[in-house]
Amino acid sequence: MKRRNFIKNAALSGASVAVGSTLLSCAENDKNKKKETITPVANSKVSLPLVIATWHVIDATAKAMEILQAGGTALDAVEQGCMVEEANEKGQSVGKGGLPDREGNVTLDACIMDKHGNCGSVVYLQNITHAVSVARKVMEDTPHVMLAGKGAEQFALEQGFKKENLLTEASKKAWEEWKVESKYKPIINIENHDTIGMLAIDKNGDISGACTTSGLAYKMAGRVGDSPIIGSGLFVDNEIGACVATGLGEEVVKTVGSFLVVELMRQGKSPQEACEEAIGRIVNKPNSDYKNFQVGYIAVNKKGETGSYSIHQWFSMTKYQDGVNEQIQSDFFNKS
Ligand code: ASP
Repeated sequence: MKRRNFIKNAALSGASVAVGSTLLSCAENDKNKKKETITPVANSKVSLPLVIATWHVIDATAKAMEILQAGGTALDAVEQGCMVEEANEKGQSVGKGGLPDREGNVTLDACIMDKHGNCGSVVYLQNITHAVSVARKVMEDTPHVMLAGKGAEQFALEQGFKKENLLTEASKKAWEEWKVESKYKPIINIENHDTIGMLAIDKNGDISGACTTSGLAYKMAGRVGDSPIIGSGLFVDNEIGACVATGLGEEVVKTVGSFLVVELMRQGKSPQEACEEAIGRIVNKPNSDYKNFQVGYIAVNKKGETGSYSIHQWFSMTKYQDGVNEQIQSDFFNKS
């Protein structure tokens, strides 16, 4: 099944999130509490390197694996893996050829995070195909974490990125057809959005992640989703694991989804259990409208175990490990 889509609403449940793997309670009466244990770096069963990505993107994971096999870093792998999809004009949800906002502008969101917890992101970037690489430049060459709009574009041009028209004929046609009725009614698993999110562990056992998207098709001008928001669309903690999200960004932001998944893994949940619980936070909100939108998570822990889960059927993950590059259908919540 090719990449599919998503959409819409939810509310935070009361459960608290433990923050910080080495946090000790300050309270005197908590003195007997043990320090949280951190899963040791690779265990003997782990087969490294490995890469996972949202959706069916075997060319992207193949590129990432090529870098990992050659001894490259997880950071280089996720950047270059995402770049494959950004350059793919046929993919209408990422990079060049992405579907535009309702004014006809293709605007990109992307972020990247390394093994040290450094991160960079761009929001509402126009005219530059490789948003993920601009995000990496923000991380490495500026004192900032996030650049938006014109400033992000200006920075990219200064860094030598090429200015391009990202609106392809196919995406322009789709937008013109949409304009006839101008109805903004997101439909589950219809191609009007998707994010390519990628997580990798390199031969050293270090984790990095990235994600890139053109966001929801025909979104309001100025709309930004979860994908460039560190902790929502992506989170990496090299001691614990990493998570990346796709789907209706507003719902991911409201539950700080990727950070939540990593923190649940810190508490001892497997990647699969953590993804399921994070989806639970969305669907179990009072009055959740989850039947009308999709969210999916993929996650990996330090041991190299992976998980994926979504609200509705047809979400998938691509996984490349032990010489096998395959699409894996995700389990999902709404079986009714
Ligand atoms: N999460 C992205 C956004 O809301 C879109 C997607 O993954 O489908 O912008």
